[in-house]
Amino acid sequence: MLDVIRAAGTISRVGLIQATGFTGATISTVVRRLIDDGLVMEIGRAESTGGKPRVLLRLNHTSRYAVGVQLDHAGITYVLTDLAGSVVSRIARAGAGTAEPPAVVARMAREVRSLIDGAGVDPDRVLGIGLVSPGPLTPASGMGLTPPVMRHWEDFPLDQALSEAARLPVVLDNDATAAALGEHWSGVVGTSRTFAAVYMGGTGIGTGLMIDGVVYRGASGNAGEIGHICLDVAGPVCWCGARGCTEALAGPAAVVAEARADGRLARAAGLAKADDQQRIAADFAALTRAARRGDSTARGLLERSARYLAVASRTLANIMDLELLVLTGPSLASAGSIYLPVVRDELDRSFFARATHPIDVQLSTSAAAAPAIGAATLVLQTELVPLREGLRLPGRLGSREPASAN
Ligand SMILES: [Zn+2]
Repeated sequence: MLDVIRAAGTISRVGLIQATGFTGATISTVVRRLIDDGLVMEIGRAESTGGKPRVLLRLNHTSRYAVGVQLDHAGITYVLTDLAGSVVSRIARAGAGTAEPPAVVARMAREVRSLIDGAGVDPDRVLGIGLVSPGPLTPASGMGLTPPVMRHWEDFPLDQALSEAARLPVVLDNDATAAALGEHWSGVVGTSRTFAAVYMGGTGIGTGLMIDGVVYRGASGNAGEIGHICLDVAGPVCWCGARGCTEALAGPAAVVAEARADGRLARAAGLAKADDQQRIAADFAALTRAARRGDSTARGLLERSARYLAVASRTLANIMDLELLVLTGPSLASAGSIYLPVVRDELDRSFFARATHPIDVQLSTSAAAAPAIGAATLVLQTELVPLREGLRLPGRLGSREPASAN
């Protein structure tokens, strides 16, 4: 019910009956409880279309908050969102780097506290912390198999440690999945029923999938790994153990490694030494700046990476019969303008179902913070919205009942 109200913006009790199929008595009871809990408020009456004007309901945005944290080796982003998923406060701090996990977790707990205090929000109104990091995930504890730069986090009970240090519940998810949720809650997704967020993080590539407003996670939260689609059977060995993966050919780490090997380009763009794993994200951003300044070698490397990403995106679009694909994540926050036209062109030309329906390709408007925002919305969903398929039709609901039509 809460999610239907959130998605609609404003809605009357009659609107809720139409949207959910529940009886008037049930709606009445649940709405009363939501108002008593401070989660929902009445905001006046809709214009009458004959008969009695209806009282409109909306979320009480400042009644609850959630913290979203994106942990990466290169940086940690924190956001505090209100109940509607709007960002109230955002800070960026140093990444995990090579520090030991317990020390990083203790620092994260302090930074979460200062985020909440700095925003002047009552800590009792904070529901919990959503934490995202580069996948893959293991179900209960945290990161099982980690990308090379985060290897010393393998099997560390991340969520439990942060929950104890910050004294708040913690939910953990894959960064790409969280980014998809962030796009969904920020309203970009609209009426699209089948949507993917293609995510390029500090070093890797992944996808978050949403079908009919519900995240599709697969059996263990690792669905949509287009970073590990094979694009060349004889290609380079990937850290996942396979050969010729998208990530091994076109991920930020692969692009940066090639750029560093080019002496002239490395000097011109100010790149780090060949084996510096901690500066991959920074060097990828530096390479993007060089391309924008007109360095044709830098642009060539990024455009080739974009072509690989475009083919992987088309593969995903064909398998899922997607309607919308959003490019997001920290690396696409800097290089998105180079990748977007390449991916769009590939899908315009060769998306399998293009004769039946178009596929919309967009660049996220909050690519850098999308995973952290998504992490916070993960808390809102987990705490407030039990996922039940079939009741969640935000797009159509919004168009069926604008604020003044009921
Ligand atoms: Zn791989």
